[in-house]
Amino acid sequence: KSGFVTLIGRPNVGKSTLMNHLIGQKIAITSNKPQTTRNKIQTILTEERGQVIFIDTPGIHKPSHKLGEYMVNTAEKTFKEVDVVLFLVEPNDFIGKGDSYILEQLQKIKTPVILIINKIDTVKKEELLTIIAKYQKQYDFKEIIPISALQGENTGQLIDILYNYL
Ligand code: GDP
Ligand code: MG
Repeated sequence: KSGFVTLIGRPNVGKSTLMNHLIGQKIAITSNKPQTTRNKIQTILTEERGQVIFIDTPGIHKPSHKLGEYMVNTAEKTFKEVDVVLFLVEPNDFIGKGDSYILEQLQKIKTPVILIINKIDTVKKEELLTIIAKYQKQYDFKEIIPISALQGENTGQLIDILYNYL
């Protein structure tokens, strides 16, 4: 099995940490082409059971100028081209204006969206259900997966689930 995935989320939610963690565990090829490259391939995880190709999505914010508009169009195109969108958030985030805009764009397409709640090592286990319920109201996510990219908690399960969408 193989397929394309894009990982989106605000700065500091842990996108790089998650990628590094996955790369650390599996064989991966990373490309460091500049941001200007359209739909660049960022990382390919290669396993015996298949390949997960992560596509970088530059400029996912609401366009406020021409360049931004170009970047957003690229993001929208990427959303259509991938098999699944991974939307990374933090437990105590709320879905702000920028995120709402992304979700609005995602409503227009059929690509499944998986919500990843990262940094669960920073919250009490009892709080997790409340946090999940809060996010569930925002969008019809295919899955909601709580993880700690830093501690590698649930990241294996994340990849297992990912294969169901490829
Ligand atoms: P990015 O901007 O989305 O790529 O976020 P980074 O991967 O650079 O992470 C931002 C900060 O969050 C760093 O200080 C990470 O160490 C921290 N971080 C990432 N994942 C976790 C996690 O699962 N738990 C905790 N406690 N911190 C994390
Ligand atoms: Mg980063």
